[in-house]
Amino acid sequence: MPSITFKNLSKSYGSTPIIREFTADIDDKEFLVLLGPSGCGKSTMLRMIAGLTDITSGELLFDGELVNTLEPRARNVAFVFQSYALYPHMTVQENIAFPLIMDRFKGWYHIPILNSIMRRVLANSPDVRDRVTEVAEMLELRELMKRRPKTLSGGQRQRVAVARALVRDPSLYLLDEPLSNLDAKLRTQMRGEISALFRRVSKSFVYVTHDQVEAMTMATRIIVLNHGEVQQIGTPNEIYNSP
Ligand code: ADP
Ligand code: ADP
Repeated sequence: MPSITFKNLSKSYGSTPIIREFTADIDDKEFLVLLGPSGCGKSTMLRMIAGLTDITSGELLFDGELVNTLEPRARNVAFVFQSYALYPHMTVQENIAFPLIMDRFKGWYHIPILNSIMRRVLANSPDVRDRVTEVAEMLELRELMKRRPKTLSGGQRQRVAVARALVRDPSLYLLDEPLSNLDAKLRTQMRGEISALFRRVSKSFVYVTHDQVEAMTMATRIIVLNHGEVQQIGTPNEIYNSP
């Protein structure tokens, strides 16, 4: 069974159509790249999958179940943004622990309150600390646990953002141009790291980019989008060799 199914999915902002009648499957454990020029609706697709924006019409199914109205936290997806979106007042350790602590305080969405209890929870929860340590090791962040985001390099910040996404062991990873703020050398290195992560966690990834090299080197399958419509679907080889 495909892990995600889009059936005639459409999205408009006001009266402007952005995604038109999108139909496709995301298979279990595939690295699907949504490739297309800026503004073609790639981020909108990810936001619909994550539940961060409403679907205008059509159906979105996870493992055969309709999730159109399921709230974001119930979807068990992880979202990595290009701009990292780390909490500047928290350490690396606290940033990574944040999703686990949110799970313990369901409904406590007030960050100032949460921040003051955060340290106590961390101090009293060896299981949370152990899980944070485990993902920090996977992303080579062990030495940086007490640092704040502003003291880190771009690559280190993006690693923290990936670690934070990983910590809840999501069934689906959504990555929105995660490497576009990095310099060329780091981008190449992080491409390899994200591919390695994909092989290691063995879950489905949906990765949005306008960069053909990223798509060709990382994807198991590529959907080429243009103006909110599917232009091509295939493996990197099929896309590359098509006329
Ligand atoms: P991409 O990720 O491919 O760059 P987006 O999904 O971000 O494309 O945006 C697709 C189009 O929708 C763009 O024209 C963008 O300006 C527009 N758009 C995105 N979000 C909103 C919004 N919240 N309200 C109105 N228009 C939006
Ligand atoms: P990115 O290029 O990183 O995908 P977006 O263009 O999607 O970023 O924009 C980031 C934020 O701005 C999103 O929350 C999106 O909903 C909003 N946004 C984008 N375009 C518009 C728009 N034309 N009108 C209103 N909001 C927009």
